[in-house]
Amino acid sequence: MSLNFKNFIKHVADKNPNEPEFLQAVAEVTEDLIPYINERHPTWKDLKILERIVEPERVISFRVTWLDDNNEVQVNRGYRVQMNSAIGPYKGGLRFSPTVNLSILKFLAFEQVFKNSLTGIPLGGGKGGSDFDPKGKSDMEIMRFCQSFMTELYRHVGAETDVPAGDIGVGEREVGYMFGQYKRIQNNFTGVLTGKGKNWGGSYIRPEATGYGLLYFVQCILESLDDDFNGKTITISGAGNVAYYAAEKAIHLGGKVITLSNSTGCVHDPDGFTIEKLTYINTLGRNISDYPKKFKSASFYADKKPWHFPCDIALPCATQNELDGDDAKILIKNGCKFVAEGANMPSTADAIKAFHKGKVYFAPGKAANAGGVAVSGLEMSQNWIGQQWPSEKVDAQLKGIMENIHKTCIKYGREEDGHVNYLKGANIGGFIKVASAMKAQGL
Ligand code: GLU
Repeated sequence: MSLNFKNFIKHVADKNPNEPEFLQAVAEVTEDLIPYINERHPTWKDLKILERIVEPERVISFRVTWLDDNNEVQVNRGYRVQMNSAIGPYKGGLRFSPTVNLSILKFLAFEQVFKNSLTGIPLGGGKGGSDFDPKGKSDMEIMRFCQSFMTELYRHVGAETDVPAGDIGVGEREVGYMFGQYKRIQNNFTGVLTGKGKNWGGSYIRPEATGYGLLYFVQCILESLDDDFNGKTITISGAGNVAYYAAEKAIHLGGKVITLSNSTGCVHDPDGFTIEKLTYINTLGRNISDYPKKFKSASFYADKKPWHFPCDIALPCATQNELDGDDAKILIKNGCKFVAEGANMPSTADAIKAFHKGKVYFAPGKAANAGGVAVSGLEMSQNWIGQQWPSEKVDAQLKGIMENIHKTCIKYGREEDGHVNYLKGANIGGFIKVASAMKAQGL
């Protein structure tokens, strides 16, 4: 009997109740994988590769107790989901946000397995984090939290075991505090985390990598259609690391970026952001609503998403499920032809359906935002050999990796009518390597 998508999803749903984001990610991937396995790899069905790949190898949950500035005890929950180590040590970020729960971390870890495989670097997949809310915390509170978090996590990670990095709420500062604590406990200066500072084991271009890689990927799509960024209007959501460097690269490549956003609302600058304007909005922190005070042609909308402004290219770079079916329809109606995900799973299942129906070129996060983890992989390589490569070398490698991911997507995602289904290409391309390794390594 061949695998059946509906039955498989029901089975996963029964086994993982109350995990909607995880189920969403599993459905998004297995809808493409099941027909592929049935047709091309029936032995993978007998080996239950799919059933195994949706089950984390290990889930760790732990208590994080820390003292706030009022000397009050605070208790948070920490996690690490070690999803799959078939092709390398677990690798993936840590997210600190009150929205963090097991469903979200499992979806992120699952996506990470395919994304990391697509980079061509030998990295398994994992994800972790905490429901700790970094907003409004003092620097000392952040430090004490990070130290407590690592005081538990250290026994589960290691440069050859599991190498975390940043994600939402975790940047160079947090990586630094966690790295320091790991080093104190283990008496070992090693590449246990990526996203480190450039003076202490970090890689050039790591902060820029996700945003730059996203734009290199869109450039590949455009070039495959004999097109380029000139004259293209681009909407971007988010105002963090990914959005910022995506906007910077988009401007350098000749595009016109007209929006940025955060959870307070959306800034629309019809003249387009310049590098100077970007630098300015970055100084505002969360108060992006102040931007139009300086740049008068711009407006701030507390209640509008970036997707409601006409554009050629949309780059969701904020968070999961930020772009729904209605948003997708508005984008398509306004002529948007390309959507590339800087965030992880920012488009809902309905939105993806609409993009495919509307023949929009839709590049999923696992392909389009893989630049971040790819440069994390390059950071690990530099740590192994005790070197630091110049930024030009890292940037060139990042570009090459994004071009290769694009080629893989074309190889497995080209439809009969010539259109490329990038989601299918990324799902199958990422899966093959992991499935073959699982088969080779036995049960
Ligand atoms: N959090 C990033 C991602 O979603 C980067 C992970 C890493 O560098 O390990 O891919």
